[in-house]
Order: sequence, then structure tokens, then C-alpha cells
Amino acid sequence: MLIDGHNRVVNYLRVSVTERCNFRCQYCMPDKPFSWVPRENLLSFEELFLFIKAAMDEGITKVRITGGEPLLREDLDKFVAMIYNHNPDVDLALTTNGYLLKQVAAKLRKAGLKRLNISLDSLRPETAQRIAQKDVLKEVLAGIDAALKVGLKVKVNMVPLKGINDDEIVDILDYCKARNIEVRFIEYMENALASDQIKGLLGKEILEKVKEKYTIRKVGREGSSPSFSYLLEDGYKFGLIDPHKHDFCETCNRIRLTAEGHLIPCLYFDEAMSIKDAVKAGDVPAAVDVLRTVLRDKPKENRWSDAENETSSRAFYETGG
Ligand code: SAM
Ligand code: SF4
Repeated sequence: MLIDGHNRVVNYLRVSVTERCNFRCQYCMPDKPFSWVPRENLLSFEELFLFIKAAMDEGITKVRITGGEPLLREDLDKFVAMIYNHNPDVDLALTTNGYLLKQVAAKLRKAGLKRLNISLDSLRPETAQRIAQKDVLKEVLAGIDAALKVGLKVKVNMVPLKGINDDEIVDILDYCKARNIEVRFIEYMENALASDQIKGLLGKEILEKVKEKYTIRKVGREGSSPSFSYLLEDGYKFGLIDPHKHDFCETCNRIRLTAEGHLIPCLYFDEAMSIKDAVKAGDVPAAVDVLRTVLRDKPKENRWSDAENETSSRAFYETGG
């Protein structure tokens, strides 16, 4: 079992497979030109897998593949199969913007993927384009349909932004409810790379919008989930990810691995240690040593709830959110 320096059990590893992306979301990497290709020094799937396998042996039971946009990495289904075949019981998931999903949903399902989260910030083509800085909506919706058709369990992530898509909170909830998909509203996390023109909604503001149409009941956080669940009267469940709340980090069970092999203990802070040399040398004990050190030093909490320090310098496309 892996336990961090604040007595929290850590069983969830998020693995970013690339920093590249085909979108330029306002809250993530708005100023990178579309021609920008990060100077990535990617670990191979075999090298990433060596670490994931060691981490699973140490107590990781949940692995999420993310990015940048993970579907930009060729043969991602082979990577999924490596993890799934090692341990079919692992809770294996993927987060994607959905743009390329239609073409690969069946392959991912066949490789062993069961669940995926798809980012959907608007159902209006022009608003989706304003946020992603590209005409994306049609492909994203087709990606969601394709994922459902092949039997993948889908959740939708929405980041509500003031004056941009906050009037669509109920529309997105209704879109998900009609398809029996859980939606999770994510508070915008301020970071130095995001556009300075945007402002997010706090959890309570998001809930106010839902309450304009529905009566809601609090359920609570399920286990170590970052999402706080709510129920509508008809039993439909949705979630709220509210890192600005003081208790958000109390049950944090996550660490993050970047595509270049940096192990990051907290989304907010810059601290990281590299497992790159260890996995390149096939030295599993050395990689596990790094894992244990990172866990020992994992910060107690982020600073998004602290008005003085509420902007992180961390890039979301690097950590995978
Ligand atoms: N490209 C994929 C996608 O967008 O789903 C995966 C990577 S993305 C960094 C993972 C998640 O982080 C997405 O749901 C995205 O909406 C969210 N995200 C990115 N920047 C954010 C920010 N500043 N605040 C809150 N959520 C953010
Ligand atoms: Fe790309 Fe995801 Fe970042 Fe949007 S949030 S720019 S889709 S990595």
C-alpha cells in the first residue's frame, strides 16, 4: 500500500502520454500557436509501462491516461492493452477532448478500456470554437456517440466560464441526463498559462444555475473521488469538482506522471522528480524509490482556496489535469 506524508492512501496514477494537443482551450494553452509542437522527450510506452507495472505492484489500482490530447499518440490502444493485459482488474480510464474518438473508440474498447471522460464545454458550435479556438463540436459529439455505441462508460467534463458558457450548465446537464451519462462540472483552476480574459464559476455558483431548473440533493464525495456528487429528484447523479474548497485535498489519492517521466505529487505545485533515468536503465527499485520520495513530500493541499496564491504556474497540458 502507498501512503503519503499526510497519511493518505495513494492508489491513483494519472499518466500523461503527450503534451501535444489539437485544441487550444482558453483555460489550458490559449497562446500556443497551432503549429507549436512541444519539445517532448517522450518515454516509450514500454518505459511508461515499466513504471506503471511497478506502481501497480506497490498499490496503484486506478490508472488514467491523459495529456495534452492522448489520442494524438499513435497506437494508444496498444498501450491500453499492455496495462489491461497485465492486470484486467485495474480501473483503467482515459480523458480526451473527443475530437479523434470516433475513429478509435472500438479499438480502445477492444484493448480493454472500459471508461472515459470526454471534455464538452458547450453545445453551441460557436462557443465550443471560442473556447477550443477551433471548430470542434461536431467531431466531439460524434466521439461521444461512438464511445457509447461500443459500450464504453462515458463521463463528461465541463469547465463553466463566466459570460462564455455558464448559461449552458443546465443544457449540458440535460444532454448528459438524456444519454444516462454523468456530467462533472469542474471549477476553473487559475493558472499562469490560461487566458487572462476568463473567469470561472465557484461550485456554489454552478449549483445555483442547476437549481434554476432542478431540486438537488447532496450525496457527498464517494471514496477519494475529487468529485462531490449530487442527485436530482429523478435519481440522476452529477458531480462537482471544487478544488477551491478547503476540504478538497483531504482525501487526495493521486499522483501524476508526465510523458517525459516527471512524477508530480500535486497539480498546483511545480515540484516533481524524474523516473526517466531509472526506467531507461530498467531499474525498477530506483523508480520505486523515486515514487516513495515523491509520496513522502506530497503537499498537504493546493492553494486555489487561498486568495493570495490562487494562480498556479503549472501547465495543465503537461500534467494532464
Ligand atoms: N485533452 C484532454 C481533455 O481536454 O479532456 C485531456 C487533458 S485535459 C488537461 C484534462 C482535463 O483538464 C479536461 O477535462 C480539461 O477540461 C481540464 N482542464 C484543463 N485546464 C483546466 C483548468 N485551468 N481548470 C479546470 N480544468 C481544466
Ligand atoms: Fe488540449 Fe485538453 Fe488542454 Fe484543451 S484542456 S488545450 S483539449 S489538453
